[in-house]
Amino acid sequence: MTTTLINPATGREIREVPSATEAETDAAIEAAHDAFPAWRDVAPGERARLLRAFAAIVGDHNEELARLEVENAGHTIGNARWEAGNVRDVLTYYSATPERLVGKQIPVAGGVDITFHEPLGVVGVIVPWNFPMPIAGWGFAPALAAGNTVVLKPAEITPLTAIRIGELALEAGIPPGVFTVVPGKGSVVGNRFVTHLDVHKVVFTGSTEVGKQIMAGCAEQVKHVTLELGGKSANIVFADADVAAAAAAAPGAVFDNAGQDCCARSRILVQRSAYDEFLGRMERAVVQWRVTDPGDEASQMGPMVSAGQRDSVQRYADGATVAFQGATPDGPDTAGGFWLPAMVVESADVTEPVWREEVFGPLVAVMPFDDEDEAVALANDSDYGLSGSIFTNDLGRALRVSRGVQTGNLSVNSHSSVRYWTPFGGYKMSGLGRELGPDAPYAFTEEKNVFIAH
Ligand code: NAP
Ligand code: MG
Repeated sequence: MTTTLINPATGREIREVPSATEAETDAAIEAAHDAFPAWRDVAPGERARLLRAFAAIVGDHNEELARLEVENAGHTIGNARWEAGNVRDVLTYYSATPERLVGKQIPVAGGVDITFHEPLGVVGVIVPWNFPMPIAGWGFAPALAAGNTVVLKPAEITPLTAIRIGELALEAGIPPGVFTVVPGKGSVVGNRFVTHLDVHKVVFTGSTEVGKQIMAGCAEQVKHVTLELGGKSANIVFADADVAAAAAAAPGAVFDNAGQDCCARSRILVQRSAYDEFLGRMERAVVQWRVTDPGDEASQMGPMVSAGQRDSVQRYADGATVAFQGATPDGPDTAGGFWLPAMVVESADVTEPVWREEVFGPLVAVMPFDDEDEAVALANDSDYGLSGSIFTNDLGRALRVSRGVQTGNLSVNSHSSVRYWTPFGGYKMSGLGRELGPDAPYAFTEEKNVFIAH
């Protein structure tokens, strides 16, 4: 079986890649299972050295990996370089884990009590198409560092960078079977990670709908599972903020990666007294937002990843009134691509689909509010709770609203949210468990307690 990959900027075929069958998936899982005991027993300093070698080789191939992502996923070249660099940095960060995966000595009567953090075995990582490189690395790096072996399924339509990273792992000296990329369909390869008895944890990032099925499947075997699902994050702008700065930053917070970002600030709440000023300034920023060939150094936004995703976003736009929008490229090279402009909708009603549902495209809904309580209530009126931003110059308000909004990752006077040094994950239907940060490797271990009588 093969999959035909399409360059989303042009609509032209790139190449065919193999798509694993169920038997091939089982073979990869069994190889990972066989490789586990030896990888678990690699001395901590040696496992650290191997992960640093893996990080270094990914770093040496930054430009190659970035160009693959531009071609396969339509990411801007600037973003794609950052994404490949993120894989390098996350591997480097977790290369410190093997030598620091310490347990506890707990005071008890009659003996000595100690805990160990032991790896789980084979971990299956299922990656979506929106950030093929970073989301892969957030799963495989801490899993490998904690002594697990990994099978990784990229999204069927965006496998090229993951396939290349799998080859680089072998070149770096990671033993065969320890990290295996298995391209193919979710219903075949991904589903097998859930049902195979030798996979002990599934790390899933993608839609809430599929995430629920994964969780139900893992329940059959009481299998560990981490879910990183959708979002409908609020960007809350108070009138006391630097409104010009908030309006200038708002497009990047939702239109980056063409809005195909689970952390996209796709709802903007603006205090009524600043609403007109904010919208006027944002319009000027949106008109200047550069939607061009993603390979151009100056590109700020490329195409949608696929015709299907373009059509899905277009349906939301058709069902709403777009207040203003940016441009799309019109050259012959991009004529067959899956392009959309950056679009802004003024929402009057919290039941509108553009206000409630995860559009996953360059479409943002804006709504006014009157006071702090209303802003928090509107932000929390969502099934999701992944990310969010607060713009205010009042420190007390920044803290009150940060504590009030039910979401896993907030930023004040900025839109940054995924930093590999800090924990990342969602409240409510945005997910289960946390990735990244200092504690991530522990989520890939069982804690064992041993009591030794005096
Ligand atoms: P999806 O269907 O949830 O796919 C995510 C990953 O899961 C892909 O690798 C997919 O494989 C795999 N998969 C699909 N069905 C599976 C199954 N039954 N068992 C195991 N694995 C399975 O997401 P999508 O269809 O690409 O996107 C749909 C929507 O999900 C988007 O519009 C967006 O709202 C949301 N989404 C969220 C994120 C996020 O970061 N939170 C990322 C992507 C999408 P295939 O590649 O073969 O489908
Ligand atoms: Mg799907």
